[in-house]
Amino acid sequence: MISYASALQHILQACQPLPPVQLPLAQALGRVLAQDVRADADLPPFDNSAMDGFALASAGTTLVAGHEFAVAGSQAAGDGLAAYSGEACEIMTGASLPDGLDCVVPVEQVSVLQRDKDGCPLQIRLDAEVSPGAHVRRRGQDVAVGDPIASAGIRLTPALHMLLSSLGVATLMVRPQVPAALFTTGRELVDDPSQPLLPGQIRNSNGPYLADRLDEAGARVVHRETVGDDAQAFIAALERGLAAGARVVLSTGAVSMGRHDFVPDALRSLHATILFHKVAIRPGKPLLFARLPGGQLYFGLPGNPVSSAVGMRFFVEPALRALLGQAPEQPLLLPLAAESRKKPGLRFFLKAYVALGDGARLQVEVMSGQESFRIKPLLAANAWVVLDADADMLPAGTLVPVFGLDGRGILLTNGEDTVGHRP
Ligand code: AMP
Ligand code: MG
Repeated sequence: MISYASALQHILQACQPLPPVQLPLAQALGRVLAQDVRADADLPPFDNSAMDGFALASAGTTLVAGHEFAVAGSQAAGDGLAAYSGEACEIMTGASLPDGLDCVVPVEQVSVLQRDKDGCPLQIRLDAEVSPGAHVRRRGQDVAVGDPIASAGIRLTPALHMLLSSLGVATLMVRPQVPAALFTTGRELVDDPSQPLLPGQIRNSNGPYLADRLDEAGARVVHRETVGDDAQAFIAALERGLAAGARVVLSTGAVSMGRHDFVPDALRSLHATILFHKVAIRPGKPLLFARLPGGQLYFGLPGNPVSSAVGMRFFVEPALRALLGQAPEQPLLLPLAAESRKKPGLRFFLKAYVALGDGARLQVEVMSGQESFRIKPLLAANAWVVLDADADMLPAGTLVPVFGLDGRGILLTNGEDTVGHRP
C-alpha cells in the first residue's frame, strides 16, 4: 500500500500533455488552451461615445451649464472617422468621436434651442456642467495591444469567449478532449431503468456519474460498457474500448480482495504494468493504476459509489489535468467548523460543506453520512475535505485542504439556495 502522494507522483509521471489541435474559436468553449493569448488590437478600437448626446470640445476645462453651442452634423454607430470644424456634433452611443471633440453631454442634459426642418438639432444649451473626457470610452481603455489575455492551461469560458471574439481571434490552439473508455463491472448491475430488479440486483449508478464527470473534466467517453464478473468478457470489452481509441480507461468494481475481483489478474494476463494497487486512503483503498501495453492508462476504481467518486476526483482528474497541460489543482485551506476525529494511517477524503461561519468567514463542515455506499449526501455537499494520513484529532479551527466537489471550484450558491444555507 502506498501513500496518496506517491500515487499522485506515479500518475503525473505517466501523463504528458496531448499534442494540441487548432480549433475555430466558436468550437472551443470548455476546451483547455494550449497557447498564451496576447491582445493584438486595442479595445475599444477607437474613441467613442458612451451616451446618446452631443460631442463637444472642452479645451481642457469644465464646460459650465448655460453654455450654448451650434451643432454641425451627426455621428452614429458605424459611421467612419470624421473631422468636425463645428463646436458640437450630435452623437449616438458607440459612434466614433469626431476629431477635435473630447467630451460628450448626454441628450438628457441639454435643451435643444433650435432644429432644422427635419428635426435635427442646430443649437443647444447645456443644462449641466461637462468635464473634459466625460462619457467618452477611450481607445485601449479596456484592453491595450500586447496585454496578456489568457494563458495556456485555462479553460475557455463564455467570458473569455466574449473577449476573444471582440479581439477578432479566429482560431485557438487547444488540447484535444482525452478519449476515455468506461467499464462498470458486477453481475448485480442493471443498466436499463425499465427492467425490474431481480433479487440481488442493483442499478448501475457509477456509470452515469463517471460518464458525466469525465465529460466535465475534459475527457470524451468513446466507449462505455457494463460487464459481469467474468475476466474473459472483461478482456473482450476492454479490447473494444481500446479499438474505439481510448487513451484513458476507467473501470469500477472487481479491484479488491474478493474472489470475484478479477481486474488485477486480467490486467496482468494482458501484460499491463501495474504501477500501484492499494493506496492509504479512505474511501477507495483498493484503487489500481496501470499502463497497458499500448501506452493507455488504466484506473481501476473500487465499486462503491463514493469510492469511485473519490477515485475520479483525486486520481483520474489530476491525470486528465496533466494530459490537458494544466497545473495540479491547489486546495483552499479553510478552518474546520467543528472538531474532527479519525484513526491515523489513512488519508481521508470526506464529503464536506463550505459555508460562512461566525464573522462571515468561510469554514468547512465535515458532513454526516460518510459511508462509501451512500450517494445522497453527495447532493448536499459542495466540497471534499482532505484529512492527512497522520491526523487523529483535529480541533475546530484547524486549517484543512478543501477541494470543490468537482473541478469547477466550490459552489457557494446553487439555484435558490443562498450562501451559507444548506440545501
Ligand atoms: P466491488 O468493488 O466490485 O466489490 O463493489 C463494491 C460495492 O459497490 C458492491 O456493493 C457493489 O454492488 C457496488 N457497486 C459496484 N459497481 C457499482 C455500480 N456501477 N453502481 C453502483 N454500485 C456498484
Ligand atoms: Mg463487484
